[in-house]
Amino acid sequence: MVASFVNNFRKPSMGWWGAAAVVGAAAQLQQSDLWPREHYLAPLVACIAVGWVAGSGRAKHPGASAGLLLACAGLAFALVGVRASVFDAQRLDPMLEGRDLQVVGVVSDLTQSSATGLRFRLRVESAQWEGRAVNLPPRIDVGWYSGLAPRGGASERADWELQRQPQDLRPGQRWRFTLRIKAPHGSRNPHGFDYELWLWTQGVQATAYVRAGAQDAAPTLVAETWAYPVAALRQAVRTRILSRVADPQAAALIAALVVGDQAALERSDWDVFRATGVAHLVSISGLHITMFAWGAMALVGGLWRRSPRLCLWLAAPTAALVGGFGLALTYALFSGWGVPAQRTCLMLATVATLRILGARWPWPQVWMLTFLAVVLSDPWALLQAGFWLSFVAVGVLFASDPGGRIPAAAPGPMPHSAPASANDPRDNLDTLESPSVLPSPEVTAWQRWWGPGARRVGAELRSLLGEQWTITLALAPLTALLFGQVSVVGLLANVLAVPWVTLVLTPLALLGVLFPPLWGGATLAVEVLMRVLQTLATWPGAVWMIGMPPWWLAVLATLGGLLLVVSLPWNVRLLGLPMVLAVPLWQAPVPAPGEFELLVADVGQGNAVLVRTAEHALLYDAGPRYSLDSDAGHRVLLPLLQATHTRLDRVVLSHQDADHVGGAAAVLATQTEAELLSSLPLNHPLTVGRDARRCEAGQAWDWDGVHFEILHPRPEDYAALPPPKPNALSCVLRMSSGGQSALLVGDIERAQEAALIERRSITAGQSGLQSTFLLVPHHGSKTSSSAPFLAAVQPEVAVVQAGYRNRYGHPVVEVMDRYRALSTGNGAAQAVEIIDTPHCGAFLWRSALPHNGVCTRNEGLRYWHHRVP
Ligand SMILES: [Zn+2]
Repeated sequence: MVASFVNNFRKPSMGWWGAAAVVGAAAQLQQSDLWPREHYLAPLVACIAVGWVAGSGRAKHPGASAGLLLACAGLAFALVGVRASVFDAQRLDPMLEGRDLQVVGVVSDLTQSSATGLRFRLRVESAQWEGRAVNLPPRIDVGWYSGLAPRGGASERADWELQRQPQDLRPGQRWRFTLRIKAPHGSRNPHGFDYELWLWTQGVQATAYVRAGAQDAAPTLVAETWAYPVAALRQAVRTRILSRVADPQAAALIAALVVGDQAALERSDWDVFRATGVAHLVSISGLHITMFAWGAMALVGGLWRRSPRLCLWLAAPTAALVGGFGLALTYALFSGWGVPAQRTCLMLATVATLRILGARWPWPQVWMLTFLAVVLSDPWALLQAGFWLSFVAVGVLFASDPGGRIPAAAPGPMPHSAPASANDPRDNLDTLESPSVLPSPEVTAWQRWWGPGARRVGAELRSLLGEQWTITLALAPLTALLFGQVSVVGLLANVLAVPWVTLVLTPLALLGVLFPPLWGGATLAVEVLMRVLQTLATWPGAVWMIGMPPWWLAVLATLGGLLLVVSLPWNVRLLGLPMVLAVPLWQAPVPAPGEFELLVADVGQGNAVLVRTAEHALLYDAGPRYSLDSDAGHRVLLPLLQATHTRLDRVVLSHQDADHVGGAAAVLATQTEAELLSSLPLNHPLTVGRDARRCEAGQAWDWDGVHFEILHPRPEDYAALPPPKPNALSCVLRMSSGGQSALLVGDIERAQEAALIERRSITAGQSGLQSTFLLVPHHGSKTSSSAPFLAAVQPEVAVVQAGYRNRYGHPVVEVMDRYRALSTGNGAAQAVEIIDTPHCGAFLWRSALPHNGVCTRNEGLRYWHHRVP
């Protein structure tokens, strides 16, 4: 009866209503600012009314269908809008940024410790500022740094003191801290990771660090609570894994698979996973949970069929669905209940429910329903690569399954020979496997127990491998588009690693929680896996980088990939090939000969500028190091170089300070052809084993009609006594062409500015330093940007590269006032255009359009992005 109701409920137009709702939700995600909440309520009511009228008058009026579609879209738009505005109302009051607040809260998730300290998530219970209660967002990310911390407020020359060191925090503990808090703020770069969106989807609306200096109240443990028992258990299991498994690599991978904590994985291991395209397995992605569900269903179904009595009580396919889904849900919860895991469980639950209710819908409608369920529960999933990967994977499985072998299924989780109706009790004896009910006398006891099950598992294993192959093949174009690289060995690596990790390593790692000696077996499985992956990763041409094409080409190529795998005649399928191949043939736009462009990357507190001419590219500085295992090279510059398909000819490192060379090792490792020009000491590790020279005034070269020259330091500056500070040796680079010029000066200070003015006016007359574009020296510090220097350079565009709320207070207000007081000399007074990366994100400046620079933060601005005060 339920089945017939569900099947009657389905209407041919339902897929279209679902599609309209997804379009409505997607349209809301395009809003740059949220409306006031009541403005969403009006369309909400209107859409329900339109839907009601159109629905009741459907048969009579041809316009009614359009009305219904519009109502579905409007309803989804308004619902997502209301939800976003309710969440947004809790956002951090900008007045509280940078204040010391007394906060009481409960640790709500696993803590992450590293050499720099401890990070954890806090559910805020109460907060006070100077004795008054204030409102904080309910969920914040907190760091408690070890070692030295600046005393007092932000200043250029802070005193440093040893603060109280992080303690062993556990989920469920209630603590009282002094916190210094700030709004979520991430770097914004072309093709970069949207950290602010990520925090929004995590429900985190502020970040903070613990003030634990001598003058601050000591952090106090107020109480142990039973809030967050799952997180507390996960942390206990993680501690056990890390203490019981001797091999750190195996311990890290087992912890990642069991409790979903990837923090202990080394970056070199991540590089291997990425190069071989199996990172999704380690990060508990939707694909991994789906594969786990598939394995669990096969196991539950296989065991269930052993007992005819159980089968009479509940059909084996239904038991497999419920049991398998239950196990997958438990695993997803235990492995951290991350957003991808939540989405996958929702998709699986939708498909399983339809299946159990006996619905026999065509696959595109089931697919659309799972899509709709995810989009309505988490609309921001539409903006995330992982969602599209697992979603397209599900679609590929539906589409590539010619005989409907998968009954209304997610990626292969259902038993494939499931009878047409799971509700029919006659199927309980599983007619397709009838020998299992009445075993022949020759069959041994072992075979009687396992025989048919083993055959079934064997058949399902083969079909899993087949499906895995199809998914990997079909996802290749999408992966390439989302991540800008094709892992050529990824196909092979996935075919080997997916069954190994899902069916061998993960079960051993999970069962080890109950019986720790099994972790010995898991360690062995990790060793085998890593050995195979490392071998594959070293194959020549393992990773093939492609540029990031425009979105329309990306959509075309994805459709081409899908077309290649669906069950259609081959001459139709082959049409997909040119659509896919258009991507690697696509070329990113470059400046015309005689023109140049600068991309001032948003790397936080540090310098990194990508310079490009028609056929050459140069990187000036490589940004800061953020922590022991994270720097601007890995996080910002490599993705940028990869997305723009840029090969560097030269890397200039102005001087050896960490905010200029922090990301250099990562960049130089991948740009093996690039020549290094720097003021680094001769024996500096970065210069070893590569084509490296000292930058010296007088060096000059021409690239595609653009003249480059080094203005500072002179050879004798290196030998000066006492040895100059690294800042004083900053390589100064000037480039010019067709009346436009740019000056990149690193961290030079007043004395070097004066020396430059003197030398340049002698050798090249008044205009020797004049530059349209100036990278503001030393991030806008008081030590630099002297008035005579600004008068000599006469910049029209001045760009400060600094971190948001950095601890040095860069750029200093009085220095910026000096720039504002300038006006460019040509005719009518025109103010200098002043740009800073905290407000602008990455800044693109082109010599062809010197007054039309582009701020990445203003491009594609959405309501979840931070508006810098
Ligand atoms: Zn610096």
